[in-house]
Amino acid sequence: MSQKIFELSLAELRQQLAAWQQPAYRAAQLWSGLYSDLRTNFEEFSVLPRGLRTQLAATYDIDCLQMKVERESKDGHTRKWLFGLAGGGEVETVLMGYDERMTVCISTQAGCAMGCVFCATGQMGLLRNLTAGEIVAQVLWAARSLKAVGGRLTNVVVMGMGEPFHNYEATLAALDRLQDPAGFGIGVRRITVSTVGLPHMIRRFAQEGRHEKLAVSLHAATDELRNRLVPINKRYPLAELIDACREYVRGGNRRLSMEWALIDGKNDSAEQAQLLVELVQGLGCHVNLIPLNPTGGYAGLRTGREAADRFKSVLDTGGVACTIRVRRGIDIGAGCGQLRTKAAGGKAQPQLASI
Ligand code: SF4
Repeated sequence: MSQKIFELSLAELRQQLAAWQQPAYRAAQLWSGLYSDLRTNFEEFSVLPRGLRTQLAATYDIDCLQMKVERESKDGHTRKWLFGLAGGGEVETVLMGYDERMTVCISTQAGCAMGCVFCATGQMGLLRNLTAGEIVAQVLWAARSLKAVGGRLTNVVVMGMGEPFHNYEATLAALDRLQDPAGFGIGVRRITVSTVGLPHMIRRFAQEGRHEKLAVSLHAATDELRNRLVPINKRYPLAELIDACREYVRGGNRRLSMEWALIDGKNDSAEQAQLLVELVQGLGCHVNLIPLNPTGGYAGLRTGREAADRFKSVLDTGGVACTIRVRRGIDIGAGCGQLRTKAAGGKAQPQLASI
């Protein structure tokens, strides 16, 4: 079986070509063809000698995603793909257009072990981690689809299926690769990593000097409520999470946001809003309020516009910057918390022991 070329870092690609007695500059040509020119077939690499193209095609596949379903939202701004993965399993990827920005929302795991009660992915359990190549390939797929119509991908959000910090190495390897200026070259400020809030991993992210934007899925301002909505909170309570967030922002020049799914009658009271104001004091973060998107496995309803405005006004008064997010792609199940693929034969279960 062929290997997947997107599993190789530039260093590994260099080693491979050196082992084939190729001059060093061939690796740069190949890298640029894959990540900058977005080629999908080795035959298109006219800059490479025919013999090398043949050898590459005999050894490697460029594709590691099999597109199974493509859906366009009626909103005209959202497209969702269901991909079969070469390594087994399926994931969903969403492309969204906002004004000048074209943003791809990518997945890092097939399923998720975190079990947030309102999230369709969490309701599936975890099937497996994605490889760095499978993560990179989702971004390149979206970039190619835009290039085909004269567009350009501008932003990447790691907010799709899975908890990126539960698949840390592969996720960060993918993001490093996408930022290489000799390849895809996306700027670090155009990438947002969203986490459910694993404090030890946020600290690691900070200590490793990462500057991607960080979004923390907060959803509640007391442990009692958060334990019910985001079960991982029982292991990592709010005080620990907020401490880790403080360490992240202390690193300087870093952008932090808090995500809050507004659920009718659950976490949308003025009291929760006031507690949120107090919780995030000094963090300089932005709060994104996202009226809950429907999923089959959770009966909660989204907060209405008036109640959402009331919640926001408490934050405004408390000096916390916040935005009520426009809901997009709901008709195709592409909204926040809606991504899922068919259950893994009933075998996938939350696997919290390893977190
Ligand atoms: S919200 Fe994120 S962390 Fe929570 S279950 Fe869904 S995918 Fe996992």
